[in-house]
Amino acid sequence: MSAPIQSTLAVPSIPHWIGGEAVGGASSRSGDVYNPSTGCITATVPYASAADIKACVAAAHAAFGKWAATPPLRRARILFRFRQLLESASDQIAEAISREHGKTLSDARGEIVRGLEVVEFACGIPDLLKGEYNENVGTGVDAFSLRQPLGVVAGITPFNFPAMVPLWMFPVALACGNTFILKPSERDPSASILLAQLLRESGLPEGVFNVLHGDREAVDGLLHHPDVAAISFVGSTPVARHVFHEGTQHGKRVQALGGAKNHMVVMPDADVDEVVDALLGAAYGSAGERCMAISIAVAVGDACADQLIERLAPKVKALRVGLPSDGQTEMGPLITSEHRARVCDYIEAGVGEGANLLVDGRIGYAGKPGGFFLGGSLFDRVQANMRIYREEIFGPVLGIVRVASLDEAIKLINSHMYANGTAIFTRSGNAARAFTSAIEVGMVGVNVPLPVPMAFHSFGGWRSSLFGDHHIYGREGVRFYTRLKAVTQRWPRELERRAEFAMPTMK
Ligand code: NAD
Repeated sequence: MSAPIQSTLAVPSIPHWIGGEAVGGASSRSGDVYNPSTGCITATVPYASAADIKACVAAAHAAFGKWAATPPLRRARILFRFRQLLESASDQIAEAISREHGKTLSDARGEIVRGLEVVEFACGIPDLLKGEYNENVGTGVDAFSLRQPLGVVAGITPFNFPAMVPLWMFPVALACGNTFILKPSERDPSASILLAQLLRESGLPEGVFNVLHGDREAVDGLLHHPDVAAISFVGSTPVARHVFHEGTQHGKRVQALGGAKNHMVVMPDADVDEVVDALLGAAYGSAGERCMAISIAVAVGDACADQLIERLAPKVKALRVGLPSDGQTEMGPLITSEHRARVCDYIEAGVGEGANLLVDGRIGYAGKPGGFFLGGSLFDRVQANMRIYREEIFGPVLGIVRVASLDEAIKLINSHMYANGTAIFTRSGNAARAFTSAIEVGMVGVNVPLPVPMAFHSFGGWRSSLFGDHHIYGREGVRFYTRLKAVTQRWPRELERRAEFAMPTMK
């Protein structure tokens, strides 16, 4: 695989955002940010040092008391303003995402829309924070519950949704009264700073939202810091496991969302053309770099598999791979040259293990200098023991597994280590009902290939796709970013004043 082309011109450095302003930080370590469409370095990003982490947590900690005491309605008003500004700036942010990530502009705009919806949800925080009340739990005694913010919370996010995944986290965390530190992916860090600028413009007090760039050192610094109360993580499973383990060992509340291998069951009664269109978008959209991408199609019956392949394979071959800024492009480049090499290794492994490679996306792309492009690949006769089945590839590679029945499909999916999303395509209500009931996966689509829950539901997988008890955003997000307090109150009366030594019970 050839090395990426290096730009010889001086490139800008993307700052941290601490205490309401852009800062360069104290670290001597930094990383390069690429434009994956050209293979050129477009910027550098500092990797936070211990001093930067300390300064950032101190700023967030100092801002917490006042922000937590700000009435939720006032916090919501700032989010309303942020929502408007975000919508106005969405083209600018989409352009930055597309430049550093490589996804098409329309895809980048789509992720901002999905993020905006979480802001809209968070604007309802006065209602979402309402507790419960019971009058007269005992004679003259009332009880009520409160949800209160945790303190400084941190969000660690992956490269594949540089705006949407942070937006899954901070609008809800801030609305609940927490202060926030975002540690975005070092591969496409520009969107995070644009979001920080918009939050400042919306009137968010300094220190309430901060951005700390970096790699493992920054993450571990946050995981070990005593003033960080909770961590939301989204990324690969090995890192999610590490973050969950280290964070909980250090007394923090942690939700850590990991990798995925999402199956789509194709029943013999499904509309094949609809399935083909659904698979093209769900498997190859964003070059397969989505945690909800479909990477395995489970065809029920050989006739169903053969019919599917007949219509799908030519369309995979004809996928329009090109510059993300070109309106005709269906698939941009992969994120890095190393990742493209890794995906190519998986394709080679699949061939070696005996799967039938129907479309080879490496042809015309692998090893080509310049951008990190790769065509779409399609495998038939993938088996459950193969690496291309067991492991997350995170690229434009779809495998077809043939099974004899829906029961067999369900057993297969329930045995996989990942359980993020899944879908079934069928015309049968009975089959769909049996599937949704028996399938052990966090998010399920019926004739919907990418069942990403709306902002007022919550997002999360099962098994190795999520460590922790809470899904992200929606009401689950409000629960994650608050802790419950139960108050039992009695106001003094003249009667019955005496000490009680038995366990209090209702009188
Ligand atoms: P990644 O795990 O490499 O990185 C995620 C974050 O962790 C980044 O901010 C990175 O700087 C940091 N990190 C990386 N290595 C680390 C280490 N050793 N110790 C501490 N921190 C570390 O993931 P990625 O490549 O950026 O993103 C792709 C992965 O994210 C895929 O596995 C994908 O399935 C997953 N993902 C999951 C969801 C979900 O909702 N479940 C959503 C999006 C992406």
